[in-house]
Amino acid sequence: MVVVMKEQATPAEIENVIQRAESMGAQTQPIYGDNHTVIALVGDLTQVQRNTFDAMAGVQKTVRIQDPYKLASRTTHPEGTVIDVGGVRFGGDQVVVMAGPCSVESRDQIIETAIAVKEAGASVLRGGAFKPRTSPYSFQGLGEEGLKYLAEAREITGLPVISEVMTIEAIDLVAEYVDILQIGARNMQNYGLLQAVGKTNRPVMLKRGISGEIQELLMCAEYILSNGNMQVMLCERGIRTYETATRNTFDLNAIPVLKRASHLPVVADPAHGTGDWELVSPMSLAAVAAGADALILEVHPDPEAAMSDGDQSLKPARFADLMCSLHKVAEAVGRSIANPADPQDSTAAESRESLFANEIEQEAVPV
Ligand code: PEP
Ligand code: MN
Repeated sequence: MVVVMKEQATPAEIENVIQRAESMGAQTQPIYGDNHTVIALVGDLTQVQRNTFDAMAGVQKTVRIQDPYKLASRTTHPEGTVIDVGGVRFGGDQVVVMAGPCSVESRDQIIETAIAVKEAGASVLRGGAFKPRTSPYSFQGLGEEGLKYLAEAREITGLPVISEVMTIEAIDLVAEYVDILQIGARNMQNYGLLQAVGKTNRPVMLKRGISGEIQELLMCAEYILSNGNMQVMLCERGIRTYETATRNTFDLNAIPVLKRASHLPVVADPAHGTGDWELVSPMSLAAVAAGADALILEVHPDPEAAMSDGDQSLKPARFADLMCSLHKVAEAVGRSIANPADPQDSTAAESRESLFANEIEQEAVPV
């Protein structure tokens, strides 16, 4: 932090600022310029309130030079964080593909989709059971019934599952069935919800708010991290701009910006980012080229009949085509696509083992 003194600040006013900063535990380094004196505050600034100085005589302004987010910052944690979900590693060398329908609509629909995305090489199954819809009259999701179908699809395919949690009250229920808790764009700044998922031990994928700045997204991640849960992924899912050609403007910049600012894995969601299935493939390839650690995509066996987001959902065959292209782009940028169906993939082998171990453990528990 730097305190900039006014041009006419007196030596006594400068000394007062130095005394006040030091009384709060900071070390000070005054820099005497021709016009202004600037006082740099270093060391332990935990007790230093930025607005303390603004009201003091002779002070022009206080400038923060450190990131306001601490636990999410790459400065405090230069190594990238790897989050292991049953052997699927987010933030490592491999790019993880999560796929599935926007909403879980029926048992058959989610199981059919799960098998199709697994065959095409997805590592995680997505599906919403609690849906944040713009209209209260639109399909709101199957709730617990949907979670049960997701868990069944997980059992059949071995794919870990991700699903959205919208309220604090539903956290325990959703966490009982899913491997990754999704916080949706509309809840990015629901601080109570963020604190509550921060107290769980479940990995969390935090989506960027529809009008959320990147720094706000990082501050929201900080709410989860500071409550003890260090397994947080950040998701770019498009933002609202003046552009009307697409549902949202997919902010490709956010991917390298987040990778530079933070050690947390970055997920790209080109389905919500574009709202248009024809744009999903090119933007998925672009996201991997830009450094995304994972993709989350919407796949539906019959997008025209989908109960939500059919326009941006890929048919399984198109998803399989996209997976082929993704392998090429990943290779071009020195990465590969995690593939649980590939016996050569050691990450996948671990994944199968750990999921299997989990099953044995569960069976061994007497009911
Ligand atoms: C979703 O993933 O289906 C969803 C509702 O996403 P978002 O919160 O980004 O709108
Ligand atoms: Mn959706």
